[in-house]
Order: sequence, then C-alpha cells, then structure tokens
Amino acid sequence: MKVIKASSRTTKVAPEAWFTGTVLQDEVVTGSPPSRLRALSVSFTPGARTAWHTHPVGQTLYVLYGTGRVQMEGGRPIVLNPGDTVLIPPDVKHWHGAAPDRLFIHLAISEVTDDGAGTNWLEKVTDAEYGVPAVDPA
Ligand code: MN
Repeated sequence: MKVIKASSRTTKVAPEAWFTGTVLQDEVVTGSPPSRLRALSVSFTPGARTAWHTHPVGQTLYVLYGTGRVQMEGGRPIVLNPGDTVLIPPDVKHWHGAAPDRLFIHLAISEVTDDGAGTNWLEKVTDAEYGVPAVDPA
C-alpha cells in the first residue's frame, strides 16, 4: 500500500476551455492498471460550472459541501446538497456546478475506457441555461 500525502499534491485551476468561472481541482486517485478509477475533489466558486459533457463509462458525483446544480440534457437543473450522490449514465449529456450564491464541492468519481478516455467536452453552459431555476430531485 501507499499513502499519498496531501502536501505532495498542489491544487490545480480547472481549464478555462471546459469550465465557466473559477473551479479548483484536487486529485484524489488516479488508479494504476488494472484499475481504471479516477477521482477528483472539485471546488466550484459561486456561479461556476462545467461545460456540457459526457462520460463514456459514466460518472458518480458525491457532494461534500455547499449547494450545487446538475442538469441532464432535456431536464431541469436539480439542486444538490451535501451527502447527495448523483449517478450519471454513460454518454448522457450533462453539466454540474455551484449554485449562483454558494460554494460547491463534490467528489467526481469515474472509470476511464481501455484507451484512457474519461470525458468528452462539448459547448459551454450559457448564462440563460444556467439561469433556469433549479428544482429539488424527485
Ligand atoms: Mn460530469
């Protein structure tokens, strides 16, 4: 086994091409083969969000802190709170991010494909799309 010290890894600013607003990423695990596990802690400042995207093997989000949003294409934005788990199926177009006025931190957990692909990035979430009032999950 191996312990990776928190102090050995620096926080990264998420790429502007794929995110709106300030988003910070802390690596949790990048599995070594045969593991295909990837996990990141992602911190979204108020109003910050991912672009629209899909995951070839799906994704699990686990909310650690704050108030967030997730939206699948064709649905309403949904409110997320600490302790919530979101299961995103393979190849479903979606975005996730903070509420307009709250910090939001989630774990993003996924497996990559055999050739290492994990996310297909699409267009940014517009202010009009982001501004649709969010609803509580059913
Ligand atoms: Mn995602």
